[in-house]
Amino acid sequence: MQAIAIDVGGTSAKGAVVDQRGKILYEKKVYSSDWKTPANVLQALAGLAQDLTKKGKQIAGVGLGMPGPCDPHTGMINFTPNLPFKKPYPLRDRLQKLVAMPVVMHNDANCAALAEVTWGAAKGASVAILIIMGTGVGGGVVINGKIFSGAGGQGGELGHMPVCYADCEHVCGAGHPGCLESYLRKEEIKEMGQRALHKRVSLVELEDMARGGNKKALSVWQDVGKHLGVGLAGVLNIFNPDVVIIGGGISHAFDLFKKQARDEALLRSFSSIVTHTKFVKARLGNDAGKLGAAKLVFDVAKR
Ligand SMILES: [Zn+2]
Repeated sequence: MQAIAIDVGGTSAKGAVVDQRGKILYEKKVYSSDWKTPANVLQALAGLAQDLTKKGKQIAGVGLGMPGPCDPHTGMINFTPNLPFKKPYPLRDRLQKLVAMPVVMHNDANCAALAEVTWGAAKGASVAILIIMGTGVGGGVVINGKIFSGAGGQGGELGHMPVCYADCEHVCGAGHPGCLESYLRKEEIKEMGQRALHKRVSLVELEDMARGGNKKALSVWQDVGKHLGVGLAGVLNIFNPDVVIIGGGISHAFDLFKKQARDEALLRSFSSIVTHTKFVKARLGNDAGKLGAAKLVFDVAKR
């Protein structure tokens, strides 16, 4: 059995044929420059799925990793800032009709978390938490091999946990004052770098400087760890996970802020919970979303 997996993004949709061992057998990408309406997106995804189906065999269905809030139970996709969905749209059901195969969907961070538990850094964990640090901060919760995303399918948004009570000067991409993302998104870390070093630096430079022994650069990463640890304390208290996985572009520097994150979590959570938890870097990189979407298909096919 094989699955078609599509990681839908703001600028492109990356599709793959995936086997049950999590191996990517074939890949194809389409660009989103002509996606002006929901129907355009639907047609593009159907075309991509049909092309990929020809490259695979025994295709069990299509899994979609979506770049915004969607409801895996109803198959509706909601307002998504970087795609032309302005109101709820029945993407799953319409795509299912066009491709004549089962279609399953989740948001991309949830898919990535499922992939890391199935084939990646948290293989076999019964309770695993993924935090993806990049342009925004995403999250995913996997419990006993299943994504936990709440009643409406939109839970697990760990990046939007409030971590500031009053006079919160930072605002996240979704407009929340003082959520974890407002402190930890890429642009904010760059600004922390600029404040510390009195010049504009890229994140690669900030990392290199810290590794080269620059104390100011290193202190920026340590602050990143402290902010992350405040959020993690909340997550650990609620879920008592086996593993916390840190993914996304920022995770490249995880070793520079891992200790501070754990120490801060220790201050604010029960030590027996924190010591139970392994803190690891994600292993599947950019393939995680696709692999998780494929796993969704295999899980539905086995039922
Ligand atoms: Zn937020």
